[in-house]
Amino acid sequence: MNKVLVLGAGQLARMMELAGTPLNLDVKAFDVRSHKVVQPISPEHEYGDLAQGIANADVITAEFEHVAHDTLAECEQSGKLFPSSNAIKIGGDRRLEKALLESAQAANAKHCFVNNKAEFDAAIEKLSLPIIFKSALEGYDGKGQWRLKDKSDAEAVWLDMAQFLAEAKETQGIVAEQMVPFDREVSLVGVRRKNGDIAVYPLTENHHTQGILSVSVAAPVNEALQKQAGKVFKALTEELNYVGVLAIEFFQVGEQLLVNEIAPRVHNSGHWTQQGADTCQFENHLRAICDLPLGSTALVRPTAMINIIGEDSVANDVLAIPSVTMHWYNKGKRAGRKMGHINVSADNKQELAQRLLAIAELLPKAGFPELHDFAVEYL
Ligand code: ATP
Ligand code: MG
Ligand code: MG
Repeated sequence: MNKVLVLGAGQLARMMELAGTPLNLDVKAFDVRSHKVVQPISPEHEYGDLAQGIANADVITAEFEHVAHDTLAECEQSGKLFPSSNAIKIGGDRRLEKALLESAQAANAKHCFVNNKAEFDAAIEKLSLPIIFKSALEGYDGKGQWRLKDKSDAEAVWLDMAQFLAEAKETQGIVAEQMVPFDREVSLVGVRRKNGDIAVYPLTENHHTQGILSVSVAAPVNEALQKQAGKVFKALTEELNYVGVLAIEFFQVGEQLLVNEIAPRVHNSGHWTQQGADTCQFENHLRAICDLPLGSTALVRPTAMINIIGEDSVANDVLAIPSVTMHWYNKGKRAGRKMGHINVSADNKQELAQRLLAIAELLPKAGFPELHDFAVEYL
């Protein structure tokens, strides 16, 4: 069992290939745009179409949840797909996701569904402002969202949303959620093997800039919170009979965690595990789907991850800062695009904050507005 096919040929498939090679795993990726199977780190190498990719693979997985349903069905039919198409579809549809949270009794923001003006008005009544509206399908990086704070803006928000719905495919819809006055955002990345073994990483604190994750930091946290998150992970993955890495994004309100959303795959807020954990999330995902023993998820050292968004180079001096590693994705430069990330580790929180500050000083401030403030706050 050493040939893996990943649905999606982006940076996550690339990092799976990088992590899988030492394990003698042969990782290929199905590029959903070109419909070709490629080598993730050198996509100019092509290996046929999806049918050939499925036939050649021992195991199939996905790097994103918005995979076409007919593609998922074709993969599932082969008996090689992990996690299941059901789990992947739930991650790609906020209505199914909310239903899962309810059935697993995972605390989450008060919400309802909106498909027309009457339901929009009912949502405002039921949830009270402020409300965040999210497209049920296809949203990521904060795209496809509307925030309504003031009742006087309701008409304009509805008109925009109604136009969006009119232009969208029939299965599209809107999920309305009460805005959560969170203290911070954290996520839990964990992994489950077929036999039910589970391992979770330490909670990660996440900061966003304009809806896109900009900084994640893993450091020893409050044991009670970690336990609470672990329980949710266990409940959700058991409900789904899940195999592989799954990420759960939470809002922390006081000492309570509310689930924001789940991602049935390796996750951006788990990139720090490449340097900060005993076994990185990419390797653990591969281990789980190939039915190999899971690796330790223990924190080795406090580690932070900084996303490089819309830039294709950074000052070389960043590499002069101790315990910094660069991870470029070999993607074409585009505003708002995740181009790579920087991991930085240290022996303690204070040293980590100093290194983050040193990095912040070398990066263009416009692209990384959160980083400097975060480092100062973290000190
Ligand atoms: P991702 O790239 O993480 O998949 P996404 O487009 O699926 O993003 P969400 O994670 O649902 O979007 O929302 C993006 C961000 O918006 C959250 O990280 C959080 O900062 C804010 N947000 C979302 N829902 C709420 C809420 N109910 N209350 C307060 N803030 C929210
Ligand atoms: Mg999302
Ligand atoms: Mg999110």
